[in-house]
Amino acid sequence: MSATLESSVPMSRDRHDGSSEPSQHALIELRDVAKVYKLEEVEVRALDGVDLTMHRGDYSALIGPSGSGKSTLMNTLGCLDRPTRGSYRLDGIEVVNMSADQRAKIRNAQIGFVFQNFNLLARTSALENVELPMLYGKRMSAHARYDRAKELLTLVGLGDRLDHHPGQLSGGQQQRVAIARALATDPSILMGDEPTGNLDSRTSREVIEMFRQLNEVKGLTVILVTHDLSVAKNARRNIVLRDGKIIADTRDHEAAAEALRSSSD
Ligand code: ADP
Ligand code: MG
Repeated sequence: MSATLESSVPMSRDRHDGSSEPSQHALIELRDVAKVYKLEEVEVRALDGVDLTMHRGDYSALIGPSGSGKSTLMNTLGCLDRPTRGSYRLDGIEVVNMSADQRAKIRNAQIGFVFQNFNLLARTSALENVELPMLYGKRMSAHARYDRAKELLTLVGLGDRLDHHPGQLSGGQQQRVAIARALATDPSILMGDEPTGNLDSRTSREVIEMFRQLNEVKGLTVILVTHDLSVAKNARRNIVLRDGKIIADTRDHEAAAEALRSSSD
């Protein structure tokens, strides 16, 4: 089955702005962000003075050796975790000092997540997995939830697998269910931490092609963590981390690969 987007599910990108005026601010703005873990006597600087700006419609890959801070940066961007220092403005709003509840609200409104292990509920149909996020946040009728979940599964090429449980689907199909689930709340940002890490290379290409189309066709802002340079190449922008610092931020994949090589010397 191909990974092309099979129907045109309306995605109301303007909704989050409240108007059709182009917004003045960047979608994501990190200033001097640090995250320090204190373990007994030792301090780990997982992020160390990160400045980063992303605009609506960007498609970025975060790359770097293991332990360089990719997941910490992703969790910070995803409002799952708060930095020790610095400022993070998401859609113009400072989120660093928000309570966990406030961050959860922002997250539900703005961000969809895809994980390496798919994180689908077993013994639950593809359709119900995609409906689940719609039970929280904005109220929707059961009928509207069903219609939206069906549309999204059709979009990712699984319109004929609505009643299948995760165990009855291939890894690539499971990840496509997870992508449909991530889109259920109509986020403006789609994030994935090693979303192809558990897939073979052919399936990985299919899933990665889907991220590209969601970016290009649907205008979603996409941010992926990957250690796979062929995945990073699919993104328009490559951000290379080492020791919690951004050592390269470039649209030139060769330059990114070179920075990565030099960082592992
Ligand atoms: P990556 O995703 O690039 O492999 P991480 O962001 O997971 O890197 O980790 C960056 C650094 O922070 C590593 O040195 C890691 O050991 C440390 N770290 C991450 N999470 C924690 C934690 N919860 N407690 C202590 N140290 C952590
Ligand atoms: Mg990681």
